Amino acid sequence: MISQRIKILLELNSAGRNSLLSELSMKGISAATLDAMKLVPREYFISEDLYNHAYDDMALPIDDNQTISQPLTVALMTDLLEIKPGDKVLEVGTGSGYQAIILSYLGAVVYSIERIENLQNSAKTAFEDFGINVISFLGDGSAGLPEFAPFERIIVTAGSPHTPLELKEQLDIGGIMVIPVGDKNYQTMTKIIKTGKNKFKVTEHDSFRFVPLIGNSAWDI
Ligand code: SAH
Repeated sequence: MISQRIKILLELNSAGRNSLLSELSMKGISAATLDAMKLVPREYFISEDLYNHAYDDMALPIDDNQTISQPLTVALMTDLLEIKPGDKVLEVGTGSGYQAIILSYLGAVVYSIERIENLQNSAKTAFEDFGINVISFLGDGSAGLPEFAPFERIIVTAGSPHTPLELKEQLDIGGIMVIPVGDKNYQTMTKIIKTGKNKFKVTEHDSFRFVPLIGNSAWDI
């Protein structure tokens, strides 16, 4: 059950949300992803003084110097993941919870890990308010979640210097991982399909700017 507050936010600027979604549709985003995004008012995650920017196609600040990703970025990563209902998905970098909610609305079973406790707590509240069951963890997601592996899908929502070996290991054969890889300023969206135990098919997509993935198998603090 979604909370009353979300019902109110869904009404607040549905025109703004729809026009952003039609922009994304013209950029080639799938109808399934757009339908899920339609159910998630971005106002929920940001402070009230930013509401008039809720449907600008840009990243917006949340607590602890982190960001809720740009809608086009969330949409592209979601499409690249090719989610099927029931897929077991690992998300590294829960942040606001926005991406995890969209994946859940597409029918994924989401395990999401965040390194900042305050963000994890707000995201857990968000999952309840949106009436979904995301399995939430606090810790360094660059090491994955070995005790729950393998995952059919892995999405990393922070920029990494390379693809952590642990995440490649924890990806199921036939599974897909989407991860931005690069330096601290720019990263290339990278899609990795695991075709065999140690076999991967890698494709590179557009360039993005993410906050850094900080951890043992990524950037130092
Ligand atoms: N998916 C988020 C985007 C959040 S930004 C959303 O939809 O809003 C990236 C997040 O990754 C930040 O919250 C940051 O704290 C977190 N992060 C960075 N390094 C991490 C790590 N090693 N493990 C888990 N989370 C990490």
